[in-house]
Amino acid sequence: TSFGYRDVSADERQGLVNRVFAAVADRYDLMNDLMSGGLHRLWKNDLIAQLNPPRGEQPFRLLDVAGGTADVTLRYARASGPNATAMLCDISPEMIAVGQRRVAEAGLEQRIAFTEGNAEALPFADRSFDAYTIAFGIRNVTHIDAALREAYRVLKIGGRFLCLEFSEVQVPILDRLYDFHSFEVIPRLGQAIAGEAVPYRYLVESIRKFPNQEVFARMVREAGFERVTYRNLTGGVAAIHSGWKI
Ligand code: SAM
Repeated sequence: TSFGYRDVSADERQGLVNRVFAAVADRYDLMNDLMSGGLHRLWKNDLIAQLNPPRGEQPFRLLDVAGGTADVTLRYARASGPNATAMLCDISPEMIAVGQRRVAEAGLEQRIAFTEGNAEALPFADRSFDAYTIAFGIRNVTHIDAALREAYRVLKIGGRFLCLEFSEVQVPILDRLYDFHSFEVIPRLGQAIAGEAVPYRYLVESIRKFPNQEVFARMVREAGFERVTYRNLTGGVAAIHSGWKI
């Protein structure tokens, strides 16, 4: 299954996504706070709480795909012990540059490495990570099934897959507010802060086209993961899907 747009080809779509992130890399963290009203912070904390990385001396290797400005990776590094390391992989050199700066400012260069790469074809060996996270990233990937297969491939046996992504709002009234926010507020914020509204319309559309909780859970299972579950955050505005490579 692939989730392309009717009017934008698969190649054009990734190109558009790349332009959006290249353009906003420097303002990305501010945009996130404004567009989500700070909620993304709580959701990311929730993701790290579910991952529950070792706080002691045990070695642990996380792969954070579409890691962008390292928001998730930094939270992970702060929540884990000295031998817990992370590899952040992202397709955008501009987002990686911001991430590297933030990691250096936090003094965590020893534990966080960066690689430019596509989630659909990860530049890593089979069975090399204890956990795989992807936060607000898989929606931007053209072939979700390919990305999920890659997640499965690079995880060790016993490894954990965790995906934080926008999902289907399952609370009445909240869904109306959310529509207003998506179609009225976000493009205007994009215009005001990044100087471009059209790419943000595409991003909003990408949220709408992304499979809902149950459908995405099925896709995660189809990639080979077991014990697949999900949890809704803020009434389903976002969800965290979890699976294990057993
Ligand atoms: N995970 C970070 C966070 O939660 O703050 C960044 C999320 S940001 C919304 C999406 C990221 O996905 C961008 O940094 C973008 O460059 C990256 N991305 C888009 N398509 C990708 C792909 N095919 N492979 C890897 N990364 C991709």
